[in-house]
Order: sequence, then C-alpha cells, then structure tokens
Amino acid sequence: MIHGMYCRKMTLVASLSVLFSLALNASAKGHPRLGFQSTPTLEVFVYGFPGLSTSLLQEAEAETDRILTPVSIRLDWINCISRAATPQCFLPQLATDITVRFLPKALPQAAATALGFANSSADSAAAFLFYDRIAALRTERRLLFPMFGRVLAHEITHLLLPNEAHSDSGLMRGLWSTSDLTVTSTACLFLSARSVQLMYGEALRRVRIKDRARGR
Ligand SMILES: [Zn+2]
Repeated sequence: MIHGMYCRKMTLVASLSVLFSLALNASAKGHPRLGFQSTPTLEVFVYGFPGLSTSLLQEAEAETDRILTPVSIRLDWINCISRAATPQCFLPQLATDITVRFLPKALPQAAATALGFANSSADSAAAFLFYDRIAALRTERRLLFPMFGRVLAHEITHLLLPNEAHSDSGLMRGLWSTSDLTVTSTACLFLSARSVQLMYGEALRRVRIKDRARGR
C-alpha cells in the first residue's frame, strides 16, 4: 500500500537565479551580515490540538533537525500548544516565519493517502500534518516520532523550495511506501546537493527580509 505526501502547487516567491545568487553570496568575503548569518535561523511556530503529546512534538522536531542538518540552517521551534504557549505565539507573525499545524484529522480536501500538506504564498508559509493518518501507520518498526519527523522535514523542505516539484528519490519523493517509514529505512532521509543549496539561499532570503522588517 502506498502512502503519499500531497502538496498543493505553491506560489513562486523568488526566481532560481536569485536563489542561486543568494547561496553564492553566502561564501563571499566582506558581506556585512555573513559573520552573523552563516547559519540562518528561521522561527517555526508550532500549533497542535488538545491531547497532543509535547514530548512527541519535541522528538519529531529533533528528528526534523537531524534530517535537515546538511542544509546548515537553524530552526527555532516555538511550541504554541496549550500550556506550552509563549507570548510570541500571540504576536503577529511575519510572512517569512514558518507555521506548522498538527491537525487531529486530515483536511477534507487532501488526497486520500496524504500525510501532510504545505502551502506558501507572499504572506504565509504553512505546513500541516495529519495526526490521524500518520498515527494509523504506527507499528513496532514504524515509531511515531520518526514518522512525524520525516513528514515534517518533507513539508518544511517544500516551504524552503517553493519553486521545486517532488523529486524521484530521497526526502522529497512524493510517494512513500510504508517500508520507507520504518526506523531503519534511510530511503527518505537525504536531500540533493542542489536542494541543500537552494534551501540555504531561501533561508538567508527570509532572514534578511525579517531583519529589514525589524529595522536591523
Ligand atoms: Zn510533498
């Protein structure tokens, strides 16, 4: 049985040439911000639903960090689930922030086997994870947090690769089998060098826009 990741086509936010340019600038000498932004940090606001395990959330986030390590970005997870919510959760977010929503049930408009969904536009970037469908795949060899971590990494990658379609292999495959979700499988864990470069450039772009918005 095949389970898939369904992702709506996203609005283009920057041309490839711009993204490549940003990535190349990252290694240029004398750039005024490079000393501080060589590892761009993106704020990720995470929302859930009553009863969602905070430890599962944190383990899934750590798994996502691990999968996205080659990109050399830092994801600043801001957990906004019930009692864990911080004041930042209630402030207006910038378009360059990322929002993640763990939904108890799949969105009705999602494809029948979709495990998650990502959507970005000029003023938002959001990923949705379908708890019911992912949890239904749990077995002794398919543990919850690695599955959530993989789906989360996939959807966040979509948000950082707004011009890119699914790939034929690795993390950005559009269709995964259940065996791809076992703890020992590494089939859906890697990113191409091109994807890594583009994601890094997109993260830098977002950080710079946010800095400008904050007058830094
Ligand atoms: Zn996808």
